[in-house]
Amino acid sequence: MEKIVSLSKRRGFIFQSSEVYGGLNGFWDYGPLGAELKRNIKECWWRSMTQLRDDVVGLEASIIMHPRIWEASGHTSTFSDLMVDCLLTKKRFRADQVEPQSGIAYFYTGATESTQGKESKDAFSVLVPRGKPPESARYAARNFYQQRGLENPVLLGERSEPVENTIRYNPENGSLLTEPRPFNLMLKTYVGPVESADNVAYLRPETAQAIFAQFKNVLEVSRQKVPFGIAQVGKAFRNEINPRNFTFRSREFEQMELEFFIRPDEAVEAIHGSVAKPAAAGHPGEPQPNWGWQIWHQYWVEERLRFYENIGLPRNSLVEYWQKADELAHYARATVDILYKFPFSKRDDKGELMGEELEGVAARSDFDLSQHQRFAGKPMTVFDEELKTAWSKLSAEKQSELSERYFQARAKYLTKAGEPAEKAEKLGRADADLLAKGYYVPHVIEPSAGVDRLALALICNAYCEDQAPDDKGKLESRVVMKLHPRIAPTKVAVFPLLKNKPELVKKAKEVRDLLRSHMTVFYDEAGAIGRRYRRQDEAGTPYGVTVDFETLGEQGPDLKDTVTLRDRDAMTQERVRISELRALLSAKIR
Ligand code: ATP
Repeated sequence: MEKIVSLSKRRGFIFQSSEVYGGLNGFWDYGPLGAELKRNIKECWWRSMTQLRDDVVGLEASIIMHPRIWEASGHTSTFSDLMVDCLLTKKRFRADQVEPQSGIAYFYTGATESTQGKESKDAFSVLVPRGKPPESARYAARNFYQQRGLENPVLLGERSEPVENTIRYNPENGSLLTEPRPFNLMLKTYVGPVESADNVAYLRPETAQAIFAQFKNVLEVSRQKVPFGIAQVGKAFRNEINPRNFTFRSREFEQMELEFFIRPDEAVEAIHGSVAKPAAAGHPGEPQPNWGWQIWHQYWVEERLRFYENIGLPRNSLVEYWQKADELAHYARATVDILYKFPFSKRDDKGELMGEELEGVAARSDFDLSQHQRFAGKPMTVFDEELKTAWSKLSAEKQSELSERYFQARAKYLTKAGEPAEKAEKLGRADADLLAKGYYVPHVIEPSAGVDRLALALICNAYCEDQAPDDKGKLESRVVMKLHPRIAPTKVAVFPLLKNKPELVKKAKEVRDLLRSHMTVFYDEAGAIGRRYRRQDEAGTPYGVTVDFETLGEQGPDLKDTVTLRDRDAMTQERVRISELRALLSAKIR
């Protein structure tokens, strides 16, 4: 990671935010190469999720939204992590990120100060590794009581006992941590000139909620029918307790989220007689009208894995992690986290990297739209003509079976959402009646990915050190960023062989201009050609074009108007006609 962080800064992928003022923890800026990389990531995602499909449309919503949205989504009450503070240094940790430790714990009931007659009855405890003298615990404890105003504390009630795998102590200094308490991760602000409780608003902690809040508007204008999706790319903010691992956990980041709305299984069954479920692992193929939520979920997991492979993350660098029943949010039916094996990931018993989350693909039932329906008091149902027609043709027995199942699911949701039993029963029955008339709240599959985590994964994956010949053919080590041509910041570098030959420079600039409106081109004439190649290798530029004397026709007419095309990874050079260059490169970067 150190090499990656240093290259990121040196080559202008990622800088610390506000670096001239000492930086701001959890915030990052993307330099010239990083900015292009991020744009390419977002464009690839947008293209594959919306433009290359008929069933997904886009949205770009505001970052600050009505605060009721966050009440409906549950963020106001439950979007929190447990935090603990070190009693000595006040350093804050996320409770679940404290490494378990073993050793001897020393306990103190308080301390006195004979000269000033002061005393503290605050209990304190220190963990020291086995074999270390108790004096180190006492030193820390005296420090603790000194911070409570006792200049020369005498420790009281010392007792010690061995402890195993505890997370109650600061791994850095052994000091006891506070009891865990929840910390809401939403960043607060005020809208308008008055800083009052009425004007509190939040910087969105995810982009998804805007999609739900605008569901009806988008549905109306897009002429889409369920199943269809709404995609959005944009900034999100979380006041993370402990930003870490470079950009992996930041306080400001970007998300690429799709909400894909589907029929409830009961509606699918009413229309098609049965619900198609996954038959085997892997991609289930082109979407079919009889798919239920499970197969749609599997479809999106596989689509997303293909996306990552398409931009250069090999399948074996990714992990498909199925959340266990006790890890799932209460409304989620299944969630698959797509993990990338970052160099800082934890390792399993066999020493294999376990991976860290790039994206979560969740089957969220009809929870989100139902919440907004209740909180906003506006229907989030859709009318499904096919369902209405199919329902009327079902046997009474089938109708009552589907109706009962739908009622059970709705009543369960309503009860979990806090509605009293009687009301949940009444509303659930009303929902089941609506289903029979062709109305329902769509269910949703949500693939939710982070742009910055993906950029970091691509940078980690691309970083390579190997050997390349210098200008005299001698092998030297090089750093090369093997970024996939689809997401590489610069697609091609154009070099005149020599800077001081006007004909070469003129021709090279012509080649640059020929390519420029079709791809990102970098023109470089400074320094030995080997050095220029090296610079582009580090920037991840997949192709280099050199204009030399052959191009000018000095070695005969055959080679006139040809250039050498260098491949960054294979380090091969081939002779290509300038007239064919654009088409050839366009095909490689598509
Ligand atoms: P984590 O468990 O790592 O905090 P999460 O499960 O809370 O992540 P989601 O709420 O599912 O994350 O957000 C979707 C995606 O947004 C994540 O997969 C990740 O790529 C990105 N993301 C979430 N939090 C951060 C963050 N603090 N910094 C950068 N990216 C983030």
